[in-house]
Amino acid sequence: MTQFAATICWVAGLVIWFIIRYPHQRRAKKQQIVDSRDRASQQSLVAISVVGVGLIPAIWALTGMGFPRGANLPFSPVAAWLGIVAIAAYLWFFYRSHKDLGHNWSATLEIRAKHTLVTGGVYHYVRHPMYVSFWLMAIAQALLLQNWFVGLAGLVGIGILYFFRVHKEEKLMLDTFGGAYRDYSRKTARLIPFIY
Ligand code: SAH
Repeated sequence: MTQFAATICWVAGLVIWFIIRYPHQRRAKKQQIVDSRDRASQQSLVAISVVGVGLIPAIWALTGMGFPRGANLPFSPVAAWLGIVAIAAYLWFFYRSHKDLGHNWSATLEIRAKHTLVTGGVYHYVRHPMYVSFWLMAIAQALLLQNWFVGLAGLVGIGILYFFRVHKEEKLMLDTFGGAYRDYSRKTARLIPFIY
């Protein structure tokens, strides 16, 4: 395992990520929206996270791991292998959460015309499996692209998206589904069963 091979694995993860997302993005465009919250600020959060998990690591990779060079770390193959495990995990959560959410998925905070509350599949265990996937993606980046600035950029980008979104999303779900969402929240954790 070399840094170059680890970077290629990181790119491959992103390519599969886009393949999983694409059909949902296409379908979402055609659906009627009945409620939308903070669209502009939620789009900005998505943009910020893309800088952290896309732009900054891409610049580093495309400059031959050269920018910012001073933040490069000595390469650890063990960390890189763990990063590959994290890729498999994030892609699994990403695939499952899209499949279970189905037509209820949206990139920002929206309620669709035929929105249903999903409590089955992976949503039986946690309320935000897609955000579990995002956190794992940032962890994979930190393990694979061994540069402390690039690693931190992913975690900060996802952290900003998550912490500025999750409460608003839960409020939207509560406003839409009332007691059913309250009961569901009582039985499930946000990201890690029994812990958080
Ligand atoms: N936070 C979830 C979903 C992310 S997609 C996750 O991490 O898996 C964001 C959209 O999904 C939100 O706009 C909301 O309308 C919808 N959503 C979130 N949880 C849902 C649920 N349990 N059932 C149906 N729709 C849900």
